[in-house]
Amino acid sequence: MYISNDMAKYKAINEQDRCVACGVCVKVCPKDAISIYKGCYAQIDEEKCIGCGICEKNCPAGVMHKVLRQPV
Ligand code: SF4
Ligand code: SF4
Repeated sequence: MYISNDMAKYKAINEQDRCVACGVCVKVCPKDAISIYKGCYAQIDEEKCIGCGICEKNCPAGVMHKVLRQPV
């Protein structure tokens, strides 16, 4: 899969209170950046996330979102 540097402009965030911990995002993330915290909700490792948006597209609950990273 081709990954441009552009992607790092974005990152994924999710609405943890609405996440159903299905684990779909964990499986589709190409960077292994997502884990399920204590079986309750998905959490994203910002350091690993390249902002590709695949998790957003695949989240069945619509609670994963690709957002612009704040300028450092
Ligand atoms: S945006 Fe891409 S790299 Fe970041 S958590 Fe989602 S699937 Fe993984
Ligand atoms: S795919 Fe969506 S609902 Fe499922 S664990 Fe990931 S963020 Fe939560």
